[in-house]
Amino acid sequence: MTDRYAVFGHPVAHSKSPFIHHAFAEQTGQDLRYEAIDPGAEGFAAAARRFFAEGGKGANVTLPFKEQALKLADEALPRAREAGAANTLIARGGRILADNTDGVGLVRDVTQHHGVPLAGAEVLLLGAGGAARGVLGPLLRERPQRLVLANRTPARAEALAEAFAALAAETGVRLEVHTWETLRLPFTVVINATSASLAGELPPLPPELFAARPFVYDMMYGAAPTPFLREAARHGARTADGLGMLVEQAAESFFLWRGVRPDAQAVYERLRAALTG
Ligand code: NDP
Repeated sequence: MTDRYAVFGHPVAHSKSPFIHHAFAEQTGQDLRYEAIDPGAEGFAAAARRFFAEGGKGANVTLPFKEQALKLADEALPRAREAGAANTLIARGGRILADNTDGVGLVRDVTQHHGVPLAGAEVLLLGAGGAARGVLGPLLRERPQRLVLANRTPARAEALAEAFAALAAETGVRLEVHTWETLRLPFTVVINATSASLAGELPPLPPELFAARPFVYDMMYGAAPTPFLREAARHGARTADGLGMLVEQAAESFFLWRGVRPDAQAVYERLRAALTG
């Protein structure tokens, strides 16, 4: 029997997840169907419960439902608890488990696809919203030398640093919070986890940020480079968008559901080609 999976989001029509998971299924010979469900702004909990009651085996959850997904689950696995949000739901033994694969997706994309080591790196993470929180734990576990948080609203970065202070101490990472003005350069890795790119905007940046040519990553992806990546490239920095993270977080979800690791690189290449037309 064909197993059912879905991504819940609002909006969700743009989602690449059905393409990715059908490609993984084809690659690994798994019999599954994966659909995109938009339950409306208020309808997530009811729609997700119905989906699982009707035999759904697993789901991805995207904006704006990731926090609700964590609350809906019968059990939150450590990565989802730490992130305060879930992007993956798993049906197991009549219960719904919540996990979060965003952070591991980012780390695999940066270290494996792009070959950029995070161990010992000086990392700047811009933003303190859901995406930043979701990746902070996995980033700290890579043991960069220092990890600096900077956010438009500094109080949110302070709160995030406080929430992860124990993990930073455990992993021996200097976790600092700075404003755009007090950032101490240089960084070897700069990650944009703000949603400025979604609005076609450039977050405020210190003028010399890209001068040392760090590896510059924007979690946002699209057919064309974001203003952030264009600015970094203009200074000769090496850049990458978040498409690889999207595919890697999906590969980890697929593994959680099916116990099989797909070839993420092959699907990334197909998706990139489709995106750029
Ligand atoms: P949130 O709304 O939770 O947080 C937005 C963050 O961006 C806040 O820190 C906010 O600052 C900051 N921000 C927004 N506009 C600006 C601006 N003009 N200048 C500076 N800072 C700004 O969003 P998310 O954290 O959920 O998402 C962030 C990005 O990550 C999105 O672009 C999303 O598409 C991407 N993403 C990509 C994934 C992938 O797989 N590739 C997975 C998950 C997310 P403040 O606190 O001051 O409001």
